[in-house]
Amino acid sequence: MALSESHHQQQQSPSQSFLAAQMEKQKQEIDQFIKIQNERLRYVLQEQRKREMEMILRKMESKALLLMSQKEEEMSKALNKNMELEDLLRKMEMENQTWQRMARENEAIVQTLNTTLEQVRERAATCYDAGEAEVEDEGSFCGGEGDGNSLPAKKMKMSSCCCNCGSNGVTRVLFLPCRHLCCCMDCEEGLLLCPICNTPKKSRIEALIF
Ligand SMILES: [Zn+2]
Ligand SMILES: [Zn+2]
Repeated sequence: MALSESHHQQQQSPSQSFLAAQMEKQKQEIDQFIKIQNERLRYVLQEQRKREMEMILRKMESKALLLMSQKEEEMSKALNKNMELEDLLRKMEMENQTWQRMARENEAIVQTLNTTLEQVRERAATCYDAGEAEVEDEGSFCGGEGDGNSLPAKKMKMSSCCCNCGSNGVTRVLFLPCRHLCCCMDCEEGLLLCPICNTPKKSRIEALIF
């Protein structure tokens, strides 16, 4: 548009100075036009770059969010695992306490058995040394209905006699749970109840008296 105008003016004006002035003016207009176009182009490029940067940022953001959610999931899994392990530890501690309690109870039972055995030994020794009066006493300890009273061996080591058959032996059997040291090895197999207190026999221990 500016060019066609200058052509028109060239035809109308013969003056050199006027032409020069016109050309200068047109040059300035063209420069102005180019400058404006350049600025527009720069603006468009800037906008485009901005949009691209925004897109890249959005992509990175979504990627970061994904990574963060993955990490969070891993962390919650680790926490769960940790809680499970703590639970297991608590259970094992409780089991350990139970075992310790059982061990203490067993120790107490062993202690009681040892005491009982010691008492029986002492009574047997006293009975053996002191004669018939003590022998009668031991007879009642073994149980009044025992056959031992009617046997001739009554005076010999009555304390270690079997409450079932009256025999004397080095080995006698202690019944559990009542803890009566009550019969000989031969009678033990046939007895389901303690001959002294009639408690059902659950277990037995062979005891050496002397
Ligand atoms: Zn017996
Ligand atoms: Zn008993």
